Order: sequence, then C-alpha cells, then structure tokens
Amino acid sequence: MNLEYYCDICDKTIKLGYKQKHFNTRLHKSLSCCIINRYCIKNPEFLQIENIINKHIHDHSKRFEFFIIDCKWKLDFDNNIFCVNSYKMHNLCSFRDIRRFLLTKICKYESMRYKFIKISEMKISFVSCRRNMTYEHYIEQPKSMLEWTIVKKLSENPSLIKIFKNTPHPLIRKYINMFPDDEGED
Ligand SMILES: [Zn+2]
Repeated sequence: MNLEYYCDICDKTIKLGYKQKHFNTRLHKSLSCCIINRYCIKNPEFLQIENIINKHIHDHSKRFEFFIIDCKWKLDFDNNIFCVNSYKMHNLCSFRDIRRFLLTKICKYESMRYKFIKISEMKISFVSCRRNMTYEHYIEQPKSMLEWTIVKKLSENPSLIKIFKNTPHPLIRKYINMFPDDEGED
C-alpha cells in the first residue's frame, strides 16, 4: 500500500495522512490558482546551467510577461548522498548568481567529506498567472463570446482601455502604452 502522496501542483511528496492538511496550506492554495510548467533536465553540464535556464526563460517569456522560476537540483556525491536545493527568482532578476549558489552548496558538502560527482537532475518550474500572459498567448486561449467581443471592440477603439487602466490583464497591457499621458485627466 502506498503511504505517500505526490502533489504535482507543488512537486512534493507527502505522507498520505497529511494529504488534506497539505491541501489547506497557503503554498498549495496559491499554487492551485497558477499555471505551472515544469521541465526536467537529466545530467546537465555544470557550465551549461545558466544557458539552459536562460533558454527556457526565453521560451516562456513568449507566453508570460512575469513569472516565478523555481530551480531544483539533485547533486550526486560518491557515497550516494544527494540533495535537492531550491533557488527561486522571477524573470526580471539577473541569473548570474546561480552557479555561485550551486558551488556554495557543493563546497558545503565537500567540506563534510562527500566527494561531488555530478548534477544528476535539474528541474525548472515556471509559476505564472493567467493575467500575466502576453497578448499573443492570450489570444490563442479559448474564450467566451463576451471576451471575444471585448477583444474586438478594443482593437477597433483602443481608447476604451482607459476605463480599465489599473486592471492587470494582457489586453490592457497591449493598449495602455498608447495613452501614456492621460494620468490624472478626467
Ligand atoms: Zn500541493
């Protein structure tokens, strides 16, 4: 009998008895409302880590303007010790510290006399919200007739956007730059 439960929303294995409790945690609840894309890379080259992440970010940026990136690595040591380390950032951060972060972790275990062999796995998770979609990606999504009507009306008359100015939505962001100087006007 399997006494563990894997939550694919949180990418976490928990004891079966804690399942309900886990569903009520803040992390699980907030992640349930998000769109999560995960990529698993086996045996990545240490020097390629940043390139791999950057490539995935580049691709994901075509679909979302803002998102959280969570990276986890499995570090293999000679005595079969491995650890999973998490590094969180958002897509507007600089990523040059990732290698240093990993090196620090590896050094810590080496100082405890474990001999580092390789990075056996790298998992990249993108956590995004629907409202942060790019316009291009938003247009590709299934929509209700009402939503299509709004899309059409706005494309015909972008100044209608001023009514929704502070609403975070791909449609608003597409047109809002057309009216930069309307701040404070009636
Ligand atoms: Zn969960």
